[in-house]
Amino acid sequence: MAVEPYRHEPVLTFSRVEEQAAMRDALARVRTRLGRRYPLIIGGQPRDSGESIVSVNPSRPEEVIGTVARAAPGLIDEALDAAWSAFADWSRTPAAERARVLFKAAAIMRARRLELDAWEVLEAGKSWVEADADVAEAIDFLEYYGRQMIRLAEPVVLTPLPGEDDEAFYIPLGVGAIIPPWNFPLAILTGMSAAAIVAGNTILLKPASATPVLGAQFAAVMEEAGLPPGVLNFVPGEGAVVGDYLVGHPRTRFISFTGSREVGLRINRLAAETPPGQRWIKRVVAELGGKDAIVVDETGDLEAAARGIVVSAFGFQGQKCSACSRVIAVDAVYDDLLARVREMTEALTIGPAEDPAYFMGPVIDEQAVNKILGYIEWGKAHARLITGGERLPGPGYFIAPTIFADVVPGSKLEQEEVFGPVVAFIRARDWAEALAIANDTVYGLTGSVYTRRRDRIQEARQVFHVGNLYINRKCTGAVVGAHPFGGFNLSGTDSKTGSPDYLLWFLQMKAVGEAL
Ligand code: NAD
Repeated sequence: MAVEPYRHEPVLTFSRVEEQAAMRDALARVRTRLGRRYPLIIGGQPRDSGESIVSVNPSRPEEVIGTVARAAPGLIDEALDAAWSAFADWSRTPAAERARVLFKAAAIMRARRLELDAWEVLEAGKSWVEADADVAEAIDFLEYYGRQMIRLAEPVVLTPLPGEDDEAFYIPLGVGAIIPPWNFPLAILTGMSAAAIVAGNTILLKPASATPVLGAQFAAVMEEAGLPPGVLNFVPGEGAVVGDYLVGHPRTRFISFTGSREVGLRINRLAAETPPGQRWIKRVVAELGGKDAIVVDETGDLEAAARGIVVSAFGFQGQKCSACSRVIAVDAVYDDLLARVREMTEALTIGPAEDPAYFMGPVIDEQAVNKILGYIEWGKAHARLITGGERLPGPGYFIAPTIFADVVPGSKLEQEEVFGPVVAFIRARDWAEALAIANDTVYGLTGSVYTRRRDRIQEARQVFHVGNLYINRKCTGAVVGAHPFGGFNLSGTDSKTGSPDYLLWFLQMKAVGEAL
């Protein structure tokens, strides 16, 4: 199979009238398909449990996107059986054939691009551009991991010993649980699933309960791309029930999780147990939250910094693990920067995600609203509210983009992940203090610095302890293949998605030495 080099999928801007019309058509088409029921898929067969997860549009929660059958432990046992039985063949299928399924899936997603964008807008509340970026990233993961697996299937270069025929090669692990979050409902789910599958594993995919219909779309794409039955088993369910059961199960070989720190640490703890019948140490890939900072010094381009802050803090309503939630500015530019960020923030538009007039849409659900408002109330009592600070009217889950100034280092709003449109400004005496504040967190996911001083750029490269550091640009928007993604500290296992190393998490190396 001739495979061209990987290239990043360009993201649509919807600036052309024809693109806008096509997207409106796609939204109308998808609307005619709302409210359907999606079964579990076990061993290639649709199965229904009779119990449901109801997915709604966060811009107008009375609109049901679809209902998805909810798995229970008995069905998880069946899915584990199906996955282990499919593993026998799939693990021995040549890597290039497995990769071809991913390439076909990428082609299907490309052909359905706007339709998938529309599902994202309606189910996750993403703006058109954010929705398209998510679909483009899903395509990138498929294309990129397919190529990486073809590379990893090449012979491993060893040091030859006289009188021996030595070789080493990668084999898959077995059956894994894939547990993605809702905030990149197609990209992260696709990347986590595709990586495990192309490496030769079989999986139980448990989508996030807020965006299970997008999970069902992915399962359908993979089936259409020719993935054999049982390789991907689709098992939506409540995290606390299905998640715990699957993670603790003696026949689960690995868990690939992306989500909150709380759940990730619970998974790590549960997976460390070895219940009777378990023959391996479970491997855990866990990519968790962040408290990402943008540091601005007195030499930084304040206009560029303000733009970078606003986009990183409020794009997709701040619901990105990479979102800027702290701005640490040195005293000399603090007030000027704050004024610029305030002005840009107050110019942001917010409303239903399907209307491209709005930059911001809703947060994901009522629970998120309450959590974010809790932080806002804390901020009002302990910091200086600059703008926002309230829920906006409407049936949807809209929260005004909110800035707090003079947030004290070490305080709740400076330390805890809010996961919403709230940014905290922190004043630092100088560059050294700013960097120290940036690093004084249990997280270590993304960060940016805005400075014109080469020595400081150099220092940040060495000292700013984050998995993804950006210089003089925003701290969101990692690109597959260009920005290997994953955090330090309690931000996760630093698995580095979209990198040449990522597939190794789903493989083990076997070495064979034959005497001649
Ligand atoms: P979450 O932890 O609430 O849920 C993530 C997934 O875990 C969902 O599928 C959920 O159903 C499942 N789950 C819940 N309880 C479980 C349990 N006991 N056992 C097993 N699974 C369980 O997170 P979320 O709200 O979906 O996502 C937001 C979080 O994800 C934020 O903290 C964000 O920073 C993080 N995130 C991190 C990255 C990254 O790459 N580091 C990327 C995106 C999101």
